Amino acid sequence: MVEVRNIYKSYGLTRALRGVSFTVPHGNFMVLVGPNGSGKTTLLKVLSGLTRSEHGSVAIDGRDIRNDSSQVRRRTGVVLHQNMLYGELTARGNLNFYAQMYGLRNPDERILQVVAQMGMTAHIDQRVSSMSHGMAKRISIARALLHNPDVLLLDEPETGLDEEGIEILKNIVIGKNEAGIRKTVLMSTHNISQWLEISDRVLVMAAGRVVHDGPSSMLSAASLRKVYQELVEVER
Ligand code: ADP
Ligand code: MG
Repeated sequence: MVEVRNIYKSYGLTRALRGVSFTVPHGNFMVLVGPNGSGKTTLLKVLSGLTRSEHGSVAIDGRDIRNDSSQVRRRTGVVLHQNMLYGELTARGNLNFYAQMYGLRNPDERILQVVAQMGMTAHIDQRVSSMSHGMAKRISIARALLHNPDVLLLDEPETGLDEEGIEILKNIVIGKNEAGIRKTVLMSTHNISQWLEISDRVLVMAAGRVVHDGPSSMLSAASLRKVYQELVEVER
């Protein structure tokens, strides 16, 4: 579960987040949409501990991200725009580095597993710097899955992925953990129609605020587009 309470975050005079609150229930897949500059990336950075908010709190599986950051990191997998990979290392080298950081018990086996899951076995010993954007994105997703987190925070993860890559990603966000429980996923996208059907909830942001938070089943892509336009216009 992800619980976000009254988050405020500014960059100088720019108020990127202005009192954001919502909950992603355990095992739910929540899609985050909103126009450019509405605060999606900032929100995901705050949730993943990359940026500090000035106000408010975030709890992941009941643990405060500030007071319990190492426990939170073990439970959370993050894919942001920066792929957080070392270009001069191979895919395997990168994953080895992260496996050590997480103290994984069978790193070699687990690395083969996540690389195969992402359809990148043939490229496991290729340097990341020589990979296409989509290939590096696949390795970045493999990195986020490495420690089998219960919670995934994904910022437009389909960017650069081909159709097969997107299918793999779909299986991941509706996938189950070792205990057979679905992961809790918060994912931003500009392609709502691609994700609406398999998502549980939709969160719409505009100008640093949540303007809609509800179940996906209530919405068709067309009605969501209408709601979206109205809500986003009002905030502007
Ligand atoms: P989104 O991901 O929805 O497009 P962002 O979270 O990236 O939105 O940006 C929200 C607002 O914060 C925008 O006005 C943006 O210009 C500003 N912002 C984001 N990151 C920075 C930064 N590092 N420095 C200054 N302003 C930033
Ligand atoms: Mg963004």
